[in-house]
Amino acid sequence: MAVREVLQIGHPVLAAVAEPVDIKNITSPEVQGWVDDLIDTMRDANGAGIAANQVGIPYRLFTVEVTKNPRYPYKPSIPLTVVINPQIKFLSEKTFNANEGCLSVPQMRGVVERHLEIEVSGYDRDGQHQRFEVRGYSAATWQHEADHLDGVLFPHRVTDKSTFTSWKVFQEFHQAAFAKEVEALVAHWGK
Ligand code: ZN
Repeated sequence: MAVREVLQIGHPVLAAVAEPVDIKNITSPEVQGWVDDLIDTMRDANGAGIAANQVGIPYRLFTVEVTKNPRYPYKPSIPLTVVINPQIKFLSEKTFNANEGCLSVPQMRGVVERHLEIEVSGYDRDGQHQRFEVRGYSAATWQHEADHLDGVLFPHRVTDKSTFTSWKVFQEFHQAAFAKEVEALVAHWGK
């Protein structure tokens, strides 16, 4: 249990494709320690989620949790979830624009097109297989974390480069309008 250093964009571990976790080892002290460190680091940094390779663990797992998050005040809540060897399936072609930030990309935000209806599957920290559907704004968070495990960071997916902003500028000029877009999505989809 420890807060780990979050690696920044360009680090080779972040850029590499992470290895699957051997599911026989999920309940081992090593993998349980990784999960605890991810939760501690995510909460310490006020992240909405964190992938293992962001803290130098080159394996396929991530955690997600959104409560009242000062980094993302408009985000709907997501209970703490651990996903090991995640798979994301798109349930429709519908997409939306998410304005994203990342603990590994300090001081930058940008608009990424994400699928609106997805299925997330993988193992929980007890080694149980889980599968659930996510529709609406929160779908972006799961896709963002799964991308990390393939070495993909949000700036790689920003197609309209004019949407890049610093956090300060986002808050000053763009957050109010974006929060309205999120509100409309939440009103329609529930999250
Ligand atoms: Zn990230």
